[in-house]
Parts: sequence; C-alpha cells; structure tokens
Amino acid sequence: MKTATTPLDLRDPRTLDEALAILAEDGPRTPIAGCTDVFVNLHFGTTPARRFLNLWALDELRGITADGALRIGALTTYTELIRSDAVNEWLPALVAASREVGGAQIQNRGTLAGNIANGSPAGDSLPVLAAAEAIVVLRSASGERRVPLTELYTGYRATVIRADELIVAVEVPRVEGRQWFRKVGTRAAQAISKVVMAGVRGPAPRIAFGSVAATVVRAPATERVLADGGSIDDAHTVLSAEIRPIDDVRSTAEYRLRVAGNLLRQWWAETS
Ligand SMILES: Cc1cc2nc3c(=O)[nH]c(=O)nc-3n(C[C@H](O)[C@H](O)[C@H](O)COP(=O)(O)OP(=O)(O)OC[C@H]3O[C@@H](n4cnc5c(N)ncnc54)[C@H](O)[C@@H]3O)c2cc1C
Repeated sequence: MKTATTPLDLRDPRTLDEALAILAEDGPRTPIAGCTDVFVNLHFGTTPARRFLNLWALDELRGITADGALRIGALTTYTELIRSDAVNEWLPALVAASREVGGAQIQNRGTLAGNIANGSPAGDSLPVLAAAEAIVVLRSASGERRVPLTELYTGYRATVIRADELIVAVEVPRVEGRQWFRKVGTRAAQAISKVVMAGVRGPAPRIAFGSVAATVVRAPATERVLADGGSIDDAHTVLSAEIRPIDDVRSTAEYRLRVAGNLLRQWWAETS
C-alpha cells in the first residue's frame, strides 16, 4: 500500500554543515538525493522511514575533479558522469555503466551515492567501483572517514554507514589497465541486471560481479589464477566455485553462474 506523504517529516538544509548538524542533533533521518530508490519504496509502502533529509540543495556534494585521484561528489548524477571528460578519461567503465542505468529520466536524477548507499547487489555502478578499488568518503559532524567500497557492505543492503554520516564523495585512484563493463538483463533499458561484471585487465587483473551474491563481490581467487599466468579455462573453473548466485524472481542460480563464466571469458577475449 502506498505511503501517505502528508505526515512525512522533511528537513531541507542549505549547507553540508547544516545537514550534518541535523543528523547529529535531530536524527535518525533518511537522506534523500535523487529519490529514485526512496520514492519507489514510498510508492509501494515498503519503507518504514517517516523522517527525511533532503540533500539536493547541497552544492558541496556536487562536482568532479581529477587531481592525483578522481573525486566524484556524492550528488553526481549518471548524466553528469556520462558527460564528464574526467570520468571518460579516468574511469570509462563507470560511463559505460551509467549509460545502462534506467532510462534518461533516471540518469538525470539518480546519483552515484544513492546507488552506493541503496546497496542493491544489482546496482550497476558497484562492480565498476569495486574493480577500480574506489574509496567512499563518509562525513559526520564529528569528522571524516574513508572506507574502501569493498568493505562498505556487511550483508544484503546493509552497510557500515552510521546514521549520523553522509557519503560526501567517491575517490578512485588511477586505474592501471584496460577497463571493461557488461550488464546482462532482460532488455537494454529499464532492466535490473541478472548479472553485471566489471573488469580491469592490468598487471593485477581485477574483476567484480553484481547480482551473484548478497552484495557486490570481487573474485580474488579467480583474479589470482590470472595474475599467476593461469589460463582462462582454469580461471573459469575457479570462478564457478568462488561465486554462489541465488535463484530469485529475476533469474536462476544456474543461469547466473553460466552467464558469469561467459562474461569472464568475454572480458578476457575482448581485452587481450
Ligand atoms: C525506473 C527505475 C529504473 C532504475 N534502473 C536502475 C538500473 O538500471 N541500475 C541501477 O543500478 N539502479 C537503477 N535504479 C535505481 C536507482 O535509480 C539508483 O540506485 C540511483 O542511483 C539512486 O540514486 P538516488 O539519488 O535517486 O537515491 P535516493 O533514492 O535518493 O536514495 C537511495 C538510498 O541512498 C541513500 N542516500 C542517498 N544519498 C546519500 C548520501 N549522500 N549519503 C548517504 N546516504 C545516501 C538514501 O538514504 C537511500 O537509502 C532504477 C530506479 C528506477 C525507479
């Protein structure tokens, strides 16, 4: 059943300091950015949240810089990622992933931090950020901490982000090697992935998958086979034991395992 919106409590800060003070003194509140995930949950009545914090006016959370590392503000939308020269140069796999998110409306409104904090194992940006060894920058009224994306998730849609913290940015070190991204879904647009993979073909090959576990995952044993000069057949065998996809409404475990293996091989062939 739809959540009635009139009794909902919304605070509308104008600065990041104000937002963090509200979370510290008048929390807990659910942050909203583009609201593309939150609104779906309100529409279907699947969120218990009644108190919200609107981040949209916080220009300090916007902007992309590339100086030593690529730094992407939390409120950066997919459209901004696609149009950014810096992201196209430093992290083209994130541009590829952004092009596959929803349709134009979602790309105009949905944000990178929203995708990260929402924590869906099917989130399209997450395998790219995991393979690129991205750092999530969290800030509260009492300070800042930096958490590798691969350590952010503790389980299905569960993160280490505290109730008084916001994601303020994502930082990505220079990626050594060729980047690659593929999403396999029911159709090209407006489809949640059945399996999504990002890879970096460099001196230390790195691969990450979405939709094959409760969280986005790297595949370190498979990476090690390839780093040690093993064949793609050996890597495929190791991957089959390393990931444990599940059956759900979107696909079966068997199909996902097969697709993940196919993607691994496709990545290796296309980046050789
Ligand atoms: C029609 C449709 C199609 C979609 N297609 C795709 C798709 O193809 N691929 C995909 O990955 N996703 C898809 N999504 C999901 C969604 O659009 C993305 O996850 C998007 O990036 C969410 O960003 P947002 O700014 O709208 O987040 P919001 O809805 O505002 O927030 C999402 C979550 O993040 C939290 N949050 C937001 N910003 C911050 C912050 N700075 N700090 C801490 N917490 C924060 C919120 O509290 C909430 O829990 C789709 C959604 C819809 C409605």
